[in-house]
Amino acid sequence: MQKVIVASWLWTETGMLPEPMIVVDEDRILSITSRQDGEMPRDAAILDYSGSMIAPAFLDVHIHGCAGHDVMEGSSDALLAISRFLGQHGTGSFLATTVTAPLDVTMKSLSNLARQLRLIHEWPGAMACGVHLEGPFLSHAKRGVHPVEDLREPSIEIFDQLFEAADGMVRLMTLAPELPGAEALTRHATQRGVRVSMGHSNATAAEAERLIHAGATSATHTFNAMRSLDHREPGIAGVVLSESALFAELICDGIHVDPRMVQLWWRLKGSQRGILVTDAMAATGMPDGEYRLGGMLVQVANGRATANGVLAGSVLTLDQALKNMIAFTGAGLAELLPLLTRNPAQMIGVEERGYLSPGKRADIVALADDGRLIASLVGGVPVARG
Ligand SMILES: [Zn+2]
Repeated sequence: MQKVIVASWLWTETGMLPEPMIVVDEDRILSITSRQDGEMPRDAAILDYSGSMIAPAFLDVHIHGCAGHDVMEGSSDALLAISRFLGQHGTGSFLATTVTAPLDVTMKSLSNLARQLRLIHEWPGAMACGVHLEGPFLSHAKRGVHPVEDLREPSIEIFDQLFEAADGMVRLMTLAPELPGAEALTRHATQRGVRVSMGHSNATAAEAERLIHAGATSATHTFNAMRSLDHREPGIAGVVLSESALFAELICDGIHVDPRMVQLWWRLKGSQRGILVTDAMAATGMPDGEYRLGGMLVQVANGRATANGVLAGSVLTLDQALKNMIAFTGAGLAELLPLLTRNPAQMIGVEERGYLSPGKRADIVALADDGRLIASLVGGVPVARG
């Protein structure tokens, strides 16, 4: 049976459509029109979100896990649990993000992940649409919780091994610009279709600029695990805030970045280049306690995930990040939606995500003005309500 989704507004990447009507057949979008212009199919079930804005489900390019699981487990159980939980929070697709681990462990995780990405056809929630390699090419000085003994200097040979283990599904890699070989690796990875994001780095502005010249297009969790913004040595933060072409991730949980700095980031990166990420780990959606992040043990209490006192990912969801952004900046829903849809899709070069069109799976969110998730639809089926 066909379904019809109606609402007060549809956000699209080219503007707002009032009184939208989306017809869904099985789990796919059949048509998108205004109610005026479209014909209501007979006997269709109507999902009425009047008063809300509907938009494509979100894309999270930096997430390690949730619901008690880490993507590096690489099992279908883990990925399906993560998929289901993310779907309930409005996320329609994600990059399975690794952390630094011994190379053989990472290779095994990547080949298991790649196998599951090929095998799983029915994602119960968000679809994994590739891999984000966070490590091992990170700086010792700004490694955060990434284990020091497993960090590596940039190496095309190691990168190729990781890329092959992941069956070519790597879409994004975080890299520290100041490491020897970082520029050559950036050129090589970019050529293989992998986007390079600067992070976990003590780089100076000049070092960051060299990596941009080699092809880097983004900054990983801006402000976190990088040199502090300083007026004489602005580092990656200063470069990413002042270069309008660069994308910039942000963890908007109110813990990783002070709301004042969130405002500064928003004014400078805005609707065109800002990207909201969660950096979420296994404890997300779970009670306080001890959880794994890759191979590390992390303590979670009162919304903070730490290992030896250092922040170790977050317990944030993207629907919460959106509400926080509205609260911290006063920006409107329509101007913030690109940060969770179009911008991350453009940054990783997966252009088929981040917007709605006929033929695609009907992964749709309905949102209130304050960013509250009214409903999350996976393949046209509501899986959560606010
Ligand atoms: Zn991370």
